[in-house]
Amino acid sequence: MAQGFGVTYDAAVIGGGVLGCATALHLARGGMRVALLERGGLCTQASGVNAGTLSMHHFRRLELVPYALRAWEMWKTASEWLGGGLEFGAQGGLVLAFNAREAELVKDKAVELKAAGSPVEVVDTAQARRIEPGLGPGVVLASHCPMDGHANASLIGRVFRAALMAASVDVRQGREVTALEHGSGGFEVRTTEGVVVARRVVLAGGVWLGRMADWFGLHAPVSYRVQQMAVSERMAPVMRTILGNVNGRLSLKQVDNGTVLIGGGWIGKGDPDHGGNEVISTSLVGNIRLARYSIPALARARVVRVWLGLRDVYPDDRPIIGPLPGIDDAYIIGCGISGFTIGPYLGKLLAQRILGQEPEMALFDPTRVVTAR
Ligand SMILES: Cc1cc2nc3c(=O)[nH]c(=O)nc-3n(C[C@H](O)[C@H](O)[C@H](O)COP(=O)(O)OP(=O)(O)OC[C@H]3O[C@@H](n4cnc5c(N)ncnc54)[C@H](O)[C@@H]3O)c2cc1C
Repeated sequence: MAQGFGVTYDAAVIGGGVLGCATALHLARGGMRVALLERGGLCTQASGVNAGTLSMHHFRRLELVPYALRAWEMWKTASEWLGGGLEFGAQGGLVLAFNAREAELVKDKAVELKAAGSPVEVVDTAQARRIEPGLGPGVVLASHCPMDGHANASLIGRVFRAALMAASVDVRQGREVTALEHGSGGFEVRTTEGVVVARRVVLAGGVWLGRMADWFGLHAPVSYRVQQMAVSERMAPVMRTILGNVNGRLSLKQVDNGTVLIGGGWIGKGDPDHGGNEVISTSLVGNIRLARYSIPALARARVVRVWLGLRDVYPDDRPIIGPLPGIDDAYIIGCGISGFTIGPYLGKLLAQRILGQEPEMALFDPTRVVTAR
């Protein structure tokens, strides 16, 4: 086996998004010697371009609520365990209904979320307007969660980098992993700038996890969505809360500097391997119309930038976290929807498992979807 740079790491984490960074950090703090290998810059893909919403309101899978509640505590205390400057805020959030059918969905969803542990309450339009005076007349009902908040995704890479360096993680950016070999002494991780040798590997590649599983001859059915986001120029305050709508087509917030972030899963064009990503103008217009319908004062907003991000999607909308089937000492971690919110906690759980501890909460067994080719 090649000796790489003369060091055998306890673990090599491949992919420096929020999931890879959190896993690497907790492994290092647990006493392991860790290399983090990232093709570009830390948190410059989904983890750095997302809407930054930390919502206890938006789950396709209710089983994720308890994980999100623990993750929320981590975001709240991030200045203690990660470092400051993430602009965390918990201003509360509303999920809106615009017609009778949506109102029924809001009610049903609120009951389910509450039963799962999220402090969500249904509020009538008068209460909703007291919470969010800027709401438009089309709102017929809403649910409110006081914990909903946000952090600034564009800052997370810098903050993680400082924490990782302080924990002596060997952070290698601009280092694409091209192949992996598993031998008796561990793994030879081939990168564009040489070989890294490690006893364990963690695949944390977001939408590229399927390509990474290929290195082991495994099939990981990870697909993707190209999501569009837009931001307005700075405005006087037009809204206070984090807004969504019940069918998940709206993600709206005004942040401290006065800009308004507009998203909600509207689709752009592109793919993870060939680039050519393009904004779809009809998506953009639809998204902005919905934002203005929700907060009419946004009619004055001028959009200054639109961008795209790739979000990983799993067949059953559940994370995959744990050992790779049939490969000793190899692990995978991916989350998909709400991955920014829950990511730091999922990384901590996987690190606990790799460190030989009992994870505080159950992992999400990859073998249900990752199979031999
Ligand atoms: C537009 C958008 C808005 C979103 N909004 C929200 C939100 O408001 N709230 C929320 O909770 N979630 C949101 N999400 C989801 C969330 O951003 C993702 O679930 C999460 O960031 C995924 O993190 P990750 O670490 O798994 O992946 P990524 O951040 O994509 O990281 C994977 C990393 O692996 C690297 N990599 C890939 N291949 C290689 C290789 N061969 N060698 C080395 N490195 C490699 C990539 O360069 C990348 O940096 C949103 C996603 C998008 C796209």
